[in-house]
Amino acid sequence: MEMKYIQTTCPYCGTGCSFNLVVLDGKVSGVAPYQRSPVNEGKLCPKGTYAHEFVNSPERLTKPLIKKDGAFVEVSWDEALKVVAEKFKSYKPDECACLASARTSNEDNYAMMKFARGVLKTKHIDHCARLCHASTVAGLANIFGSGAMTNSIGDIADAKCVFIIGSNTFENHPLIGRRVMEAKANGAKIIYVDPRLTPTGKQADLYLQFYSGTDVCLLNGMMQLIIKNGWENKEFIQNRCNGYDDLKKEVMKDDYSLENVSIITGVPAEKIKTAAEWFAKSGATAILYSMGITQHTTGVDNVKSCGNIQMLTGNLGRPGTGVNALRGQNNVQGACDMGALPVVYTGYQKVIDETARKKFEDAWKFPDGIAKGENGYEVTTLMNVLSDKPGEIKCLYIMGENPMISDPDLNHVAHSMKNLDFLVVQDIFLNETAKLANVVLPAACYAEKNGTQTSTERRVQMWRKAQNPPGEAKGDWEIIASIAKAMGYGNQFAWSNSEDVFNEIASLTPSYAGMTYQRLAKPEALHWPCPSKDHPGTPILHGEKFGMPDGKGLMTGIPFKYQAERPDKDYPFLLTTGRSLWQWHTGTMTRRSKSLEREEPTGWIEINTEDAKNLDIKNGELVKAVSRRGEIKITARVTDNIKKGVMFIPFHYAECAANMLTINALDPIAKIPESKACAVKVEKI
Ligand code: SF4
Repeated sequence: MEMKYIQTTCPYCGTGCSFNLVVLDGKVSGVAPYQRSPVNEGKLCPKGTYAHEFVNSPERLTKPLIKKDGAFVEVSWDEALKVVAEKFKSYKPDECACLASARTSNEDNYAMMKFARGVLKTKHIDHCARLCHASTVAGLANIFGSGAMTNSIGDIADAKCVFIIGSNTFENHPLIGRRVMEAKANGAKIIYVDPRLTPTGKQADLYLQFYSGTDVCLLNGMMQLIIKNGWENKEFIQNRCNGYDDLKKEVMKDDYSLENVSIITGVPAEKIKTAAEWFAKSGATAILYSMGITQHTTGVDNVKSCGNIQMLTGNLGRPGTGVNALRGQNNVQGACDMGALPVVYTGYQKVIDETARKKFEDAWKFPDGIAKGENGYEVTTLMNVLSDKPGEIKCLYIMGENPMISDPDLNHVAHSMKNLDFLVVQDIFLNETAKLANVVLPAACYAEKNGTQTSTERRVQMWRKAQNPPGEAKGDWEIIASIAKAMGYGNQFAWSNSEDVFNEIASLTPSYAGMTYQRLAKPEALHWPCPSKDHPGTPILHGEKFGMPDGKGLMTGIPFKYQAERPDKDYPFLLTTGRSLWQWHTGTMTRRSKSLEREEPTGWIEINTEDAKNLDIKNGELVKAVSRRGEIKITARVTDNIKKGVMFIPFHYAECAANMLTINALDPIAKIPESKACAVKVEKI
């Protein structure tokens, strides 16, 4: 028996842990520690530990499928490519849209972006960052000039105060949680803000149990206290920021008096005071946030408020500080960096900038040009257009995404998808969205291809091929290149391997320009920006100046606004959604991993003990959860760990999908849905 260890990067959350895949006789059979990773030093959470289990699932797609008379039929690649190429060619440019994927590699996302803009010549390309961190990209870019986590994971351990808001870090980014515990062991104070007392909250020194959606109110209230007490960092504000007067004018309003903020957020005044003091006086406070901040109609405001308080207190550009957006999927950062967004090419070069458009057109050399320099539809807008303007978008090409579970208001999504003329899904499993497709293309998973991903801390890391894909499955960029060739664009996709793709990315993307596979092969890899071959990478952003034209951060007064749908007499509870330690996103991979699935094999609704008593609901009872958009049957978990009046459902489970209930209300800038707050009622069955 031949055994090999292949070092690679975890395909689950955005932490970017490394491990070895254990390969027995050419087949991935286990995971073993890789001690040299500076991110996780050989340690893994359960998802990483069992990251081999879904790889050889008997449910993997192995042949292209075409739907004929309502049923899938296995076909050859030649036939599938011919059908897809002919259909794609039959549409006008903007009648097609593409969804790339935060689960696939940078090379795959780049290939999809080039295919959309160069082959289909459509401006409509997006991916699931729209659903999780679009507010981060828009919010941080607006105030700092760069829409990414400011610091690195390792330096969280240097914080003297860690302020965690809207992130169950210990369950959803456990190896980042480890750095929080290191900080605590070094004497840091941990402040936790969330409607649920999660395992993260249980380690905190101060817990603020607030109502979901009141983030801006809380942060404005804390900033008022900081200014009133003279705890702001005057030197940092003076030298490094614009907009202080605008910020001060807003946060000093009576609306954000301690009393008002306590009423609106549901947090006792004393706790808010203590939080403000610890935050401002620590000397190094790091904010960690995740989708509790971003998935709101005020997502961009929430992100900018995190930036405001960090600028006010001078907690940027140093170890142990920063606005640290924790990305949920392994390559959300990379998919955004690769331009799998409707407004930018790689490295956030704007499509409406004619110089940038010309640069890509000249480099790609499509004989008939590329898509016009216009912004396209976000995936959430796309679903609305499909529903409200049937015929405008006719064709959708999805790589590695599952909107039939991940998107808000699933009845609306199903209605939208029915209005498509042609749907191609490229994935590793026949997921809920793939079942609706006209053509399904079998893809290789992370263990079956070389490539790179960019973690939440902007660290670009390698994937390494450990086994062959099952059956006739192929790598995503290879499939995309095959379709391009079948459509007459072989020359533009004539890559021999993933390194060729990466070198093309680096040649067109200033923040990746100094990266090569050789440099990335080292355990520490490289953080972008890395503009030249001798540049060491940038673990901490904004050290001396921000990425704004004048180098200064932009503080802005942000008025508090409530969420789109508040509880009322018909739907009296506030529903929030999230993730669990054992499952990941739409469950495509984790639910096919026995060790993970057996721990939490179905979903649940968390109900406060007092609310459950009033509703006569017992722990473990099956109940009906209903919103204005849909209903599900789901098991009740009665607990004191959730705020009275608030309920929680994890969004992983198709059989009791949280997104049957959520609302398709969007942040006006980021177009991210408000998955963290809508009104529901719960009934006994
Ligand atoms: Fe994988 Fe994230 Fe767990 Fe690390 S913390 S092992 S990257 S799921």
